[in-house]
Amino acid sequence: MKSYDVTVIGSGPGGYVAAIRCAQLGMKTALIEKYNTLGGTCLNVGCIPSKALLDSSHHYESAVKHFAEHGIEVPGEVKVNLEQMIARKQAVVDQTTGGIDFLMKKNKIEVFNGLGSFVDANRIKIETEGDSEEIESKNVIIATGSKPASLPFITLDKERIITSTEALKLKEIPKHMIVIGGGVIGLELGQVYKRLGADVTVVEYMDRIIPTMDASLSKELAKVLKKQKFKILTSHQVEAVERKGDTIHVKAKNKKGEPVEIEGDYCLVSVGRKAYTEGLNLEAAGVKANDRGQIEVNDHLQTNVSNIYAIGDVVRGAMLAHKAEEEGTMAAEIIAGQKPHIDYNLIPGVVYTWPEVASVGKTEEELKEAGADYKTGSFPMRALGRSRASMDIDGLIKVLADSKTDEILGVHMIGARAADMIAEAVVAMEFRASSEDVSRMSHAHPTFTEAIKEACLAVDDRALHV
Ligand code: FAD
Ligand code: NAD
Repeated sequence: MKSYDVTVIGSGPGGYVAAIRCAQLGMKTALIEKYNTLGGTCLNVGCIPSKALLDSSHHYESAVKHFAEHGIEVPGEVKVNLEQMIARKQAVVDQTTGGIDFLMKKNKIEVFNGLGSFVDANRIKIETEGDSEEIESKNVIIATGSKPASLPFITLDKERIITSTEALKLKEIPKHMIVIGGGVIGLELGQVYKRLGADVTVVEYMDRIIPTMDASLSKELAKVLKKQKFKILTSHQVEAVERKGDTIHVKAKNKKGEPVEIEGDYCLVSVGRKAYTEGLNLEAAGVKANDRGQIEVNDHLQTNVSNIYAIGDVVRGAMLAHKAEEEGTMAAEIIAGQKPHIDYNLIPGVVYTWPEVASVGKTEEELKEAGADYKTGSFPMRALGRSRASMDIDGLIKVLADSKTDEILGVHMIGARAADMIAEAVVAMEFRASSEDVSRMSHAHPTFTEAIKEACLAVDDRALHV
């Protein structure tokens, strides 16, 4: 029987990073993936393909709506070739997953394609069609990720009542896409099809979209999306989703308890994701999961069985690729006897709509709830020369800082390139910078990052350009 120091089950950003770090640390490492391609949700049906479609649809929208103002004339009509757009997305995915194959070979990680399941705490069975083999391993890292969640009364037919996976490969542009859930997936993929010409109605249960982010971002994003002709129904509880022929009927109740019925030709169900442990046979190893299906881990990512660790979407916390990656590195280093640490407060969250939304640290609502003594500074993107040059004037940056020490406690931004700009806030907070520290740093002109400096100046009521 083949024998390893560490076996990683699942090849998403958590699993493959864990495997690389284990190999770097000199451990004999195996990686098991049930699908034929490596990279998990993120590379195959998540982060990468959704961003590829967001980029393509953004180009199309620019060509249709903004080229003329920039003085660019396109002879003839600008048209969408959806088949080509989806094919380009797939080419990006194939190239990226191929890159993981290369990294596994480079790091001498043995890859098994098949379903991994525990025989006991040190033995894993790998099943492929009609074949199975067992390996043994001193340590195991479970990185089996998550799957789309749904609502009990919804039958996902995967044709017209779909999840993000199907929305990434539609064969036609919906006439009217109803999106259930105004979170990250609903808004990102809703915006893809809105740009391509669909009507989009977002039905959200809470009283605001992106409800876990700072409320100022929800408000500003809703304002911008409404300008883009999104229909947004907040405080609406969906009660039924039915398909009749090619028409989807979504029945909901509004805040007053009145019935609302929406008709469309596609319905994207994006109400969150759930931890995935099916087929792992956790019982054979004695590993405990909680009532939400998440594998329980301690601060060292160790399960109740001491040689078995779990990371990424399958455990508590934000379901983000970079969170999974950090945990992959941490689990590997702990197994190697090191003492790594993750500051979960400093894991940024990003929504890749345009304008982009990005956040790190505490929201204003969290600070209020904790009774913290804080001050705020905020700066509108429209006041920047850079924003006017590119006509990206929507959005704002808000900085929250401790009233006494001035330490930055949270940074929340919506605007062009916020996804990249949030890194500055993460660095500042990692080094426990004050808002004055950042406001005294030189920011290149003209850049969008000047809004970070200005928002920090605004904390002390001395922004320069408003
Ligand atoms: P996963 O990526 O889910 O990988 C788990 C892997 O384990 C899968 O390949 C699965 O096949 C395999 N597996 C499961 N069970 C077994 C078994 N028994 N044996 C063998 N293999 C098994 N996050 C971001 O940070 N940024 C984004 O922009 C972003 N965009 C997203 C867009 C969409 C549409 C979706 C759906 C998600 C997005 N996410 C994004 C979330 C991100 O994809 C996840 O947080 C991330 O993939 C989690 O990584 P993971 O390694 O924990 O699990
Ligand atoms: P989400 O948690 O971001 O949003 C789900 C939304 O659905 C929430 O606003 C919630 O209030 C709403 N909702 C829940 N039940 C509802 C109901 N019955 N009726 C109406 N609305 C309801 O989840 P998601 O958008 O499905 O994404 C899943 C996960 O994938 C997220 O945890 C996210 O972190 C990750 N993801 C990240 C990115 C990114 O980082 N850019 C992109 C896509 C997905």
